[in-house]
Amino acid sequence: MRASLWQVSRTKTCRCVCPFNEKILMTSILENRPALARAVNQVAEAAGYLWQKGWAERNGGNITVNITEYVDEEMRAMPAISDVMPIGTTLPHLKGCYFYCKGTQMRMRDLARWPMDNGSIIRILDDCASYVIIADKPVKPTSELPSHLSVHDYLLAKGSPYRASLHTHPIELVALTHNKKFMEKDVATKILWSMIPETKAFCPRGLGMVSYMMPSSVELADATIKAIDDDYDVVMWEKHGVFAVDTDIMSAFDQVDVLNKSALIYIAAKNMGFVPDGMTEEQMKELSDTFGLPK
Ligand SMILES: [Zn+2]
Repeated sequence: MRASLWQVSRTKTCRCVCPFNEKILMTSILENRPALARAVNQVAEAAGYLWQKGWAERNGGNITVNITEYVDEEMRAMPAISDVMPIGTTLPHLKGCYFYCKGTQMRMRDLARWPMDNGSIIRILDDCASYVIIADKPVKPTSELPSHLSVHDYLLAKGSPYRASLHTHPIELVALTHNKKFMEKDVATKILWSMIPETKAFCPRGLGMVSYMMPSSVELADATIKAIDDDYDVVMWEKHGVFAVDTDIMSAFDQVDVLNKSALIYIAAKNMGFVPDGMTEEQMKELSDTFGLPK
């Protein structure tokens, strides 16, 4: 009996009162959109890593991904499931764009399991200053939405292929910023690059530094864009966290991960009672020459 109920429920033609009806009616925008589902599932996977690494306490951190390339006509016609909400700024390059956004007050560890319960897909309206939620539930986006969207607007204006932005609290990288010496331009970058060759290869633009500013502020968003414009993919917010951009969310996560790995190696050496030598300038230049790195 249970088996036949299940079969009926899977056909979507069931009108009887069966335990599966509710699930059938709650279809997700991800259904029958494998490319979009893959992008959102990748966000969920990355969110799980952030939690496992201890970088995402409580509701800490934000993720937004520009998913416009996966949007079809049916999605464009979907009605809003929220009121029209102001972004708080006007972003002309985002006209007609769609984003997956982590929800405000939502936890990365929950998003890892249920990305469409702890995040939503939004449509930027034609005024480029407001948005609506279109799926799956009216989960209000992160309070950092204006700064994330400002960065996406900047990236699109520049013709960048980057579609994902990530903010998280990597413990050892944040610890570094509690010393003014490491806040000087490229001091931390050079130390981190010199700990292990892969860090320079996989975070080839290094770590930009932004001095302490109020979270969620326009000033912080502007300073972050300025640092990205100064040719960094990963920007450190003093005594707070990192902001990273890349083509997709996993690549953004990887850049932060290799940097933090280097910070851990630095700390391990210090714990052994010495300051690590680091690779030499010549060794790092050889890496850049061999792999055609930008710096
Ligand atoms: Zn934060």
